[in-house]
Amino acid sequence: MIFSQALSHHFPGAVAEQVYVRASQHALLPLGFTRENAIACAGVCRDEITRPFVDAIQDVWGEAFNFASLAGMLFLGKTGFTAAEQHSPKLDGRERYIFYAFPHIALGESGEVGLCFRTGRDEPSTACGALAALQGELASGELNLMVDPLDIEMSLLRQRLLRLIPYGEAPGLLELTRLAYRAVLEDLENLAGLTIDVRAADYAVLAGIQVHGPNRSGYIWSGRSYAVVREVKQDLILDFSLGSD
Ligand SMILES: [Zn+2]
Repeated sequence: MIFSQALSHHFPGAVAEQVYVRASQHALLPLGFTRENAIACAGVCRDEITRPFVDAIQDVWGEAFNFASLAGMLFLGKTGFTAAEQHSPKLDGRERYIFYAFPHIALGESGEVGLCFRTGRDEPSTACGALAALQGELASGELNLMVDPLDIEMSLLRQRLLRLIPYGEAPGLLELTRLAYRAVLEDLENLAGLTIDVRAADYAVLAGIQVHGPNRSGYIWSGRSYAVVREVKQDLILDFSLGSD
């Protein structure tokens, strides 16, 4: 299977990162979200290969609050969410937040799951490395569930995803990435619910999976997307035919 077939097989409807971000902007402008009155928050993995997506978000919305943890988890928690929200502009008496939340995975030239190459290294690498490490632990049956103070994010990632995995099962990297997406979306919605006063703020949830292809190409599989404006929740229809410029 070549990369493009693998992409549409595993992530139907995935589009280039810039196309996705542009479509999200077009869906949010009519709802009153602009570069001037909103703050974007970028929830991606710490991995440097996630950066072009964050750059695309910042090109559209300006400097984004950094939500990054290993595997795109939202370990910044209530304190981090509250900080981001307090950094929003407040031009017409309302605050506006745009949350992007995306775990990631790579697909190789022949569709190899997890395979990527990094600048200056000849040997292949893996993305997401943290999810691949967890997958290895699950496959070997050796899991340490203690919180290691010197490995906080990995400890929390392990605990968070194990809640979604039936006892004794060892999902592959693709399935683990989809579970990470589920966890991130659930945590995002819970944290938004705990920290946002919808009488005074509007917000958007844009979640999915970031997919790295060969030659530094980057794609987005769009998952859940909606906005809550003036206390009314509405699904966002993302139009990917707009292109990227
Ligand atoms: Zn990663």
